Amino acid sequence: MSKKIFVTDTILRDAHQSLLATRMRTDDMLPICDKLDKVGYWSLEVWGGATFDACVRFLKEDPWERLRKLRAALPNTRLQMLLRGQNLLGYRHYSDDVVKAFVAKAAVNGIDVFRIFDAMNDVRNLRVAIEAVKAAGKHAQGTIAYTTSPVHTIEAFVAQAKQMEAMGCDSVAIKDMAGLLTPFATGQLVKALKAEQSLPVFIHSHDTAGLAAMCQLKAIENGADHIDTAISSFAWGTSHPGTESMVAALKGSEFDTGLNLELLQEIGLYFYAVRKKYHQFESEFTAVDTRVQVNQVPGGMISNLANQLKEQGALNRMNEVLAEIPRVREDLGFPPLVTPTSQIVGTQAFFNVLAGERYKTITNEVKLYLQGGYGKAPGVVNEQLRRQAIGSEEVIDVRPADLLKPEMTKLRADIGNLAKSEEDVLTFAMFPDIGRKFLEEREAGTLTPEVLLPIPEAGAVASAGGEGVPTEFVIDVHGETYRVDITGVGVKAEGKRHFYLSIDGMPEEVVFEPLNEFVGGGSSKRKQASEPGHVSTTMPGNIVDVLVKEGDVVKAGQPVLITEAMKMETEVQAAIAGKVTAIHVAKGDRVNPGEILIEIEG
Ligand code: MN
Repeated sequence: MSKKIFVTDTILRDAHQSLLATRMRTDDMLPICDKLDKVGYWSLEVWGGATFDACVRFLKEDPWERLRKLRAALPNTRLQMLLRGQNLLGYRHYSDDVVKAFVAKAAVNGIDVFRIFDAMNDVRNLRVAIEAVKAAGKHAQGTIAYTTSPVHTIEAFVAQAKQMEAMGCDSVAIKDMAGLLTPFATGQLVKALKAEQSLPVFIHSHDTAGLAAMCQLKAIENGADHIDTAISSFAWGTSHPGTESMVAALKGSEFDTGLNLELLQEIGLYFYAVRKKYHQFESEFTAVDTRVQVNQVPGGMISNLANQLKEQGALNRMNEVLAEIPRVREDLGFPPLVTPTSQIVGTQAFFNVLAGERYKTITNEVKLYLQGGYGKAPGVVNEQLRRQAIGSEEVIDVRPADLLKPEMTKLRADIGNLAKSEEDVLTFAMFPDIGRKFLEEREAGTLTPEVLLPIPEAGAVASAGGEGVPTEFVIDVHGETYRVDITGVGVKAEGKRHFYLSIDGMPEEVVFEPLNEFVGGGSSKRKQASEPGHVSTTMPGNIVDVLVKEGDVVKAGQPVLITEAMKMETEVQAAIAGKVTAIHVAKGDRVNPGEILIEIEG
C-alpha cells in the first residue's frame, strides 16, 4: 500500500515571514517561478499573513500586483494564502461585506486555496470567510490554531474540525505557529482527526523547538495527507522543515512525495543567494530555541517583544516578561498566541512587569478581549479582572462582526479618487493609515522602498560613506564603549533620512530628522510632572488622541488621553477632578514617561 504525501512550499510567504521579517520582494520571486511551477507541489503559499502589510509598509509594492504577477508566472500550481478569518489581513474585525469583497478579489486575482484561522479558534469568526471562498469556487481550508493548555484537548480540537467540516471546508490544517507540537502529541491528534472527520489533514509546524520534522513524520504515519515545508535555504529554526529534506526522507517509502529532488536543489541554491541580500533583516531569534516548549512564547513573538523592549529601553526585563506571559494568558482563558492575541498578551505582560503592579494599566485591546470583542475565549477568563477592566459595561456574547454595519460604501467614499480599483479600496480597508499613504505616494510617483544594504562580503562599510567620509566610530555611553559602523544611507523623504548602522555588529536603523522639525514635534521639551494635576504616562509612546480641550471640567478617573506603545492603546486618566488649564500634546506626538502632557487645576 502506498500513499502519496502532498507538499505545500511556504518559501514565498511563511518562510521569509519567519526568517526575514517578510521582506522578500516580488523581483526576487519571479525569476525562479518557472522552476517552482515544474516541481509538482500541491500548492505554493504565496500571499496573506504579513506579506500584505510588508508590501504596503516597507516594500512599497502593490500586494495585488504581486499576486497577479505570481499567478501569471505559476500557471500550473495552486496558489495559497493565509487569512485571519474575520480579521482578514488587518488587525480588527471587519464587517461581512468587507470580508466577502476581499475574498472575492483574492480569488479573482489568483488565490486557489484559502487557509482560514481565528486566533481564538472561535469558528463563528471563520464562517463568512469560508462561505465567501466557496461562493468563489475555491478551496476553503479550516484551521486549528494549535496550542497547549488545560482546555486544549484532543476532543476540543476534533470538535472544532467537525464544526469546520460542517461549515463546508474542503480540508483541515493543524497550524502549529509556535512550534509547540511534539511528535507523539501530533500522532495522537492526527489519528483522532482522521478517525472522526473526513477532511484531508494538513500539517503546518514551525521548527522553533527543533521537533517539526519528527512531528510531520508522526503525522504522516497516523494518516496526515499534506505537509508544509520550506526550501532548505529558508528552512528550519522558526521556519519549516526543509523541502528537500522531507522529500528525501520519504523517498522510496510508501509515503513518497514524487517531487524531483534535483530540481528542488537548484531552487534551493537560488534562494541561498536571495537570503544573503536580506541579511539586515535576519534577527538573532530565528534559530532553534527550545524555550518555547517551556514558556509557550512563539519565536516570532520573542523577536517582536525584543525589538519593542529595546525601543522602550527595557531589554533587561525580557525574562520577567517571558515569565508573565503565561500568567496573563491564563487570566484571559488560554488564547492561542498568534496574531493578534500574541501582541495583546505580550504587551499586557510587559505593562504588568514594567508598572511593578499587575493590571495597573490595562490596554484597550485587553478590555475589548475581556468584553468578548474578539470572540469567545477558549477557557474561563479571570472574572475579577474582567470586572476591573470593563466595569459595568456589557459582555458581548454574539459573533463580534454581528455588531458591525456594512463598511464598503463608506470606505470607497473615504479613499475617493486615490483608489483606482476595488482592490485599492481593500488595501485602504486593511491599513487605513499606511494604506492611504501608499496610495497617495503612488499617485504622486514617490513610492520609495526601504534600502537593502550591500551584502557584507561586498564591502558594506566602504560603500556607505564615500570618499573621505568617516563611517566607523567608537562611542562612549555611561562608561560603556560601542563600535558603530554606518552601513547604509537611505533616500531622504519627508525631511527624514534613514541611516543603517551596526552597533557592535548588530544591525540598527536610525531615522534622522532636521533639528527644527524635531523641536516642533515637542518631544523632550516638556517639563517633568510634579503635582497630582499633571497628567503624564509611565511608558514612552505616541499620542493617539487627546480627549479634552482647555477649559474642560473633568472628573477624577476620566480618560483624557489615549496613548499607544508597542502597538497597543492605553487610556490615561485624570488623577484629580478639576479644570483643564493647559494641553502640551497633540495627536501623533511622541511622549516620554513623567512629562507633563495635560495640566488640571483642582
Ligand atoms: Mn506559520
